[in-house]
Amino acid sequence: MDLVLFGIQGSGKGTLGKMVADRYGFKVFETGGALRSLAAEDSGLGKKIKSIIEAGKLVTNDVIMEIIENFLKNLPADAKVLFDGIPRFPEQAETFDTLMARNNRQFTGILIDVPEEEVIRRLGARRNCKNCKTIFPSSYTKDACAKCGGELVVRSDDNPESIKTRLKAYYEETLPVIERYKKAGKIITMDGNKDIDACGVDIFKIIDTQIKP
Ligand code: AMP
Repeated sequence: MDLVLFGIQGSGKGTLGKMVADRYGFKVFETGGALRSLAAEDSGLGKKIKSIIEAGKLVTNDVIMEIIENFLKNLPADAKVLFDGIPRFPEQAETFDTLMARNNRQFTGILIDVPEEEVIRRLGARRNCKNCKTIFPSSYTKDACAKCGGELVVRSDDNPESIKTRLKAYYEETLPVIERYKKAGKIITMDGNKDIDACGVDIFKIIDTQIKP
């Protein structure tokens, strides 16, 4: 059984996803991270993706589906996947469902619920490593990257204008997807307005008792 993490930007999906992946052996597909890697390439597609991300807009669906197909193709047959940042709008949910069915994959969603004021605070304070691109939450206060010692900078799309655009997109486009999956019984909601260790305890409990991967 695969997992899909849902939650507003800054809800902790990336950090919790990594904790879950380390504990249960999921392969992580982090949509924003996969796109940022492509955006760093000096290619036509890379430049196009970079400008879309910096404007806080969404990358087209066909590009995303191709990236996921490639990711799945390179996995061992028994691998479990944790998806983060997909699907984000109703049409993408339909193509994602079709792609999952075609690859014989099933998923449960976990929604990390955090109030808007809290995510605005977190997004303005988080930083990523200029060198290896690892993202550090606002709770990480050191000056250098814990992985490679690189310089930490605010992500280029964590500026107030882009944050506003991304939050609006979440309410208008991703919430309807979440509501649809909730009705289908595919989503478990957890409280994400706690410190990261407490959220870790909660998400592990959900996985152990309700999902059993
Ligand atoms: P994130 O790291 O999830 O905040 O994503 C960063 C950026 O990547 C977004 O603002 C979008 O431009 C792009 N992106 C991430 N996920 C998707 C998606 N599912 N569909 C389209 N674009 C996406």
